Amino acid sequence: MIVVMRHGASKENVDNVIKFIESKNRVAHVSQGESHTIIGAVGESDIDPREFELLDGVKEVVKISSSYKLVSRIFQHEDTLIEVNGEKFGAGHVGMIAGPCTIENEEQIEECARLMASYGVKIIRGGAFKPRTSPYSFQGLGEEGLKLIRRAADKYNLAVVSEVMEIGQIPLFEKYADMLQVGARNMQNFNLLKELSKINKPIVLKRGLSATINEWLMAAEYILSGGNRDVILCERGIRTFEVATRNTLDLCAIPVVKKLSHLPIIVDPSHGTGLRDKVEPMSLASVAAGCDGLMLEVHNKPECALCDGAQSLYPEQFNELYKKLKVLAPVVGKTF
Ligand code: PEP
Ligand code: MN
Repeated sequence: MIVVMRHGASKENVDNVIKFIESKNRVAHVSQGESHTIIGAVGESDIDPREFELLDGVKEVVKISSSYKLVSRIFQHEDTLIEVNGEKFGAGHVGMIAGPCTIENEEQIEECARLMASYGVKIIRGGAFKPRTSPYSFQGLGEEGLKLIRRAADKYNLAVVSEVMEIGQIPLFEKYADMLQVGARNMQNFNLLKELSKINKPIVLKRGLSATINEWLMAAEYILSGGNRDVILCERGIRTFEVATRNTLDLCAIPVVKKLSHLPIIVDPSHGTGLRDKVEPMSLASVAAGCDGLMLEVHNKPECALCDGAQSLYPEQFNELYKKLKVLAPVVGKTF
């Protein structure tokens, strides 16, 4: 249930509504819009909406029938803007995250960081804990990897995003990363989502391999409901009958999500297609379709990569794409 306060309602009016919500064993989440304060009353207990309508300063009470509430545009009309190291996602801004699939050694991550910074990238990606299909594949360097990416990023003034796979790893990410990624395979790891809802760093929430948009938004709702409002949704392709590409990149998810939610949505065409020659067209298409950012795999030597080399761009290819995106973004009314 959402309580929309009248324009000019006093702080006392707002506090009173919050107190009332809490007295009904629900949690109040306040969203300060441009003209109205909106208060979400989230929880399982029954409340009669008419009880709110009687309170001073209340304009209207909206029952939200969708299962997600805090991520909904009804709760917050304006886009959420997330800014990390000067890179902006949402509210008309397209942000870039780029780097290798995984951190392999000091020389590789340092060279990737140098290249990314030289092209103007502000956020580097790189996995230290890798969710691999085979237990015999490279599993990542763990904490050592996080130390290496942090050191390389600091040298070139970059922010770090890396994938957290389980609750016990969160303290390491608090120490070494600026943003935490929840991978597709963990999108519905609800205990992990609940813990991430308590931290103070943005979360990149990838869409699950077979997740519907509703399930994806519900996963985001877990993070917002615990208090962390900084969630970036990442479309990374879904599993369909089509096998010509690694996954089927669902670009339609962009306008669908933009209508339903205020959260930024970025696209990862590297995992979405699995092939580097498809990454440029799908990146351009994603921006044209209104996404708020991209996450791209780029490797200094893709043919030697320990993971996902075939979908990693060569540095020069990335640079060319970056320049094209700079031209395209303003055409669709975005800054990049
Ligand atoms: C990744 O970004 O390295 C990754 C494993 O992605 P996904 O969870 O989308 O498969
Ligand atoms: Mn990868």
